Amino acid sequence: MNTISYNKFIDEAMKNARETDTPISGCFELTPLCNLDCKMCYVHLTDPTVRERMLSGDEWINLMGQAIEHGMMKALLTGGEAMTHPDFREIYMYLIEQGVPVQVKTNGILLNNDMIELFTEYPPYIVDVSLYGCDGESYIAITGHDVFETVTTNIRAAIEAGLHIRLAITPSAYMLPWVDKIMEYSKTLGADDVNVNAMLTEANPDTDRRMEDFGLSLEENARIHRKQWEMFPRKPKSQTEEEAEFMGEIPEDEPHILPKGLYCNGGRTGFAINWDGTMGPCLVFPRDVICVDVKKVGFDAAWREVNRGVKEYEVPEECKTCSHNTKCHYCPRQHKSVAAKRLCDNAACGWCKLQADIAEEYRAN
Ligand code: SF4
Ligand code: SF4
Ligand code: SF4
Repeated sequence: MNTISYNKFIDEAMKNARETDTPISGCFELTPLCNLDCKMCYVHLTDPTVRERMLSGDEWINLMGQAIEHGMMKALLTGGEAMTHPDFREIYMYLIEQGVPVQVKTNGILLNNDMIELFTEYPPYIVDVSLYGCDGESYIAITGHDVFETVTTNIRAAIEAGLHIRLAITPSAYMLPWVDKIMEYSKTLGADDVNVNAMLTEANPDTDRRMEDFGLSLEENARIHRKQWEMFPRKPKSQTEEEAEFMGEIPEDEPHILPKGLYCNGGRTGFAINWDGTMGPCLVFPRDVICVDVKKVGFDAAWREVNRGVKEYEVPEECKTCSHNTKCHYCPRQHKSVAAKRLCDNAACGWCKLQADIAEEYRAN
């Protein structure tokens, strides 16, 4: 019998799915609630009425069932803190029982012995754990809570149990005093991989957080990015993970521009459903460009609308003549405030160009 790796299988499935408009990958933001309160968080809400407005476990399971009928083959559970959803276990087990590989994103606090036991018996294909500090002081400054020991003890226990753990570091203005130490510390934990997020997401309006407060300057971002290249030389990341999955398909010197539509797979092979039941091409896609109330119209109509919206979206004229259009792919999320007008955000373009140039520098050396 011929066998291929899971990643190769997913690559092939992705190509077919794009041609056939099949949503093989689903992202579910189970809740905007969280047991931390990070100062750069784009989603976390504290409004108590959220609990009444959140989808229940049964509602999520129903939507996931419809997604599976439409071809969903992998799922991401995220939040807020996904594990704080009261029905997290039921939702997780539903996907496992349906044979859907699950990726879980967590801040690690609830990755305790009980959860590790469940995951050991019914493994997710990966657990992404955010690492926000290298000691109690940094954790308090960034997340508002001293959970350093809890999180790192849980990470070590999960690795010891054989789970596939990937760490995620999100540099922000609040992390600046510790960011190098955190990157260094992350390497000591023994995780399978470490991702350093290259770009922050503009906070949702109802969070009361603002990029002006937590964002990094171009210089700070560049310094961290260079440090990241030095520390994780085989993990260059100049694009989002979703982009990276598809960018390999574009010849090096060809502009990342289609007459209509986007190059990434958001809305083409994957979808995201936010905590309030809104479907978009990906979790952070600007809602004033594309979003559909999936609770109202059902999965089929929502997916068709999202897919159509993405295929018809036209990137800004500016991209067509940009010197970096063979390295940069317009991502509406990065230009969130102006994406509905099909414009570029100058700050986002500046950072994209610099990232591409830094990547070039390091590739040349
Ligand atoms: S752990 Fe994640 S979801 Fe929770 S507050 Fe921090 S960034 Fe937001
Ligand atoms: S729109 Fe941007 S964030 Fe969303 S999937 Fe595409 S590249 Fe990724
Ligand atoms: S840098 Fe800006 S203008 Fe250039 S391709 Fe990227 S998004 Fe378009």
